[in-house]
Amino acid sequence: MELRLHDTLTREKRTFVPLDPKNVRMYVCGPTVYDFAHIGNARPVIVFDVLFRLLRHLYGEANVKYVRNITDVDDKINDRAARDFPGLPLNEAIRKVTEQTGKQFHADVDALGALRPTVEPRATEHIGEMREIIEKLIAGGFAYVAEDHVLFSPQAMNAANAGLPRYGALSNRSLDEMVAGARVDVAPYKKGNTDFVLWKPSKPGEPSWPSPAGIAAHGRPGWHIECSAMAWKHLGEHFDIHGGGIDLVFPHHENEVAQTCCAFHQQRMANYWMHNGFLQVESEKMSKSLGNFITIHELLKDWPGEVLRLNMLKTHYRSPIDWTMKSLEESAKTLDDWYRIAADAVPGEPDASVVEPLLDDLNTPQAIAALHGLRGNDIAGLAGSLRLLGFLAESAAQWERRKQQASGVDAKEVERLIAERTAARGRKDFKESDRIRDLLATMGVAIKDSKEGTTWEIAR
Ligand code: AMP
Ligand code: ZN
Repeated sequence: MELRLHDTLTREKRTFVPLDPKNVRMYVCGPTVYDFAHIGNARPVIVFDVLFRLLRHLYGEANVKYVRNITDVDDKINDRAARDFPGLPLNEAIRKVTEQTGKQFHADVDALGALRPTVEPRATEHIGEMREIIEKLIAGGFAYVAEDHVLFSPQAMNAANAGLPRYGALSNRSLDEMVAGARVDVAPYKKGNTDFVLWKPSKPGEPSWPSPAGIAAHGRPGWHIECSAMAWKHLGEHFDIHGGGIDLVFPHHENEVAQTCCAFHQQRMANYWMHNGFLQVESEKMSKSLGNFITIHELLKDWPGEVLRLNMLKTHYRSPIDWTMKSLEESAKTLDDWYRIAADAVPGEPDASVVEPLLDDLNTPQAIAALHGLRGNDIAGLAGSLRLLGFLAESAAQWERRKQQASGVDAKEVERLIAERTAARGRKDFKESDRIRDLLATMGVAIKDSKEGTTWEIAR
């Protein structure tokens, strides 16, 4: 069985052949840590976690290296720091913002059942590598210094054309059209209107580092160079998979490819480029102004992380996803059922009916359909397959307890009412026993009578 992945560059599904099966390497662009992550940000986290798990299953846990960076230098971080900690020196305020946001991000994605990546590099710890790449680019004639900035020239890249990819190939754009369509009020220090920043001077008080290329003023990196540097440091000049959301294809990933390939004189940065589609909420674009901006943190107050995870995976990663309350409720019911029948079962090997669709460009909706098929006939296979997909982190009892806590139902009170109802039934006072059953229903508790006695659960 072979793995096939859709590659944004070639726009087709291709058989995945790792450069080195003993060291399968994947880089995914991580969060800029200035605020709570929203449910759209959870999509790449969950999608590439499934791929990470699948690669570990295929190549062995020790043979897969997954790098997801943390962007901790950015204008948005500086703005947030100045707003939230006006009394502190900016650098201290920035540290507070990135520490708090980074911790919150970890808490969120742990709850979603995402494994921690092998390495989570921070941009601020890789400034040296950024300077090195920038100097290589200047030496190669792909970048130039102007007014304490360093700029990359896509036109120089396409003119060189010696064993390099074409600028614009990944995002399927023509550089000539970009040049023609670029804004006219372009910064005066740019030679070409599509040139982008590799390095820029810092304003007083902003984080700053010694600059490359003999620039006297201290400065800070542009966003794109951060990922080229971190990927290089941890995965090398050329690696297997690079991922992120579809919005990153241009300019971020196009520019990463340009920087890395020109610095190291090569045709490719990653062999497969994978991009998840966008998430919208109740059929609308998520935005702060529309008031439908939902953070993972808020959702986790109402739903277990695995419900969010299942809800995400019901849609294929390349399709847009419409995040709705109705779908969440269905996902919660499905997981309740799986927890009840499979969480305490001894897991078998993941079933072929689930693994095969995953091998076909991570077809998770079909894998989930196969899980439903296993439910009636192979509980061990169901349990093993669910674990491969990152579910069943808890026991059935933990799951039930968490639901009770989340619902605010007092388990002791429920038990007391059930005992009262049993007593009422014993003396054939059915009016009273029905009253108690209805009362429990209004509390969100469903009861079931059997020969062994009365059991209860939270009804959603
Ligand atoms: P950002 O912090 O905005 O750079 O985003 C971090 C990751 O989340 C990137 O891979 C983005 O492509 C992805 N992302 C942001 N918004 C959405 C969305 N609404 N749907 C899917 N992915 C998103
Ligand atoms: Zn990136």
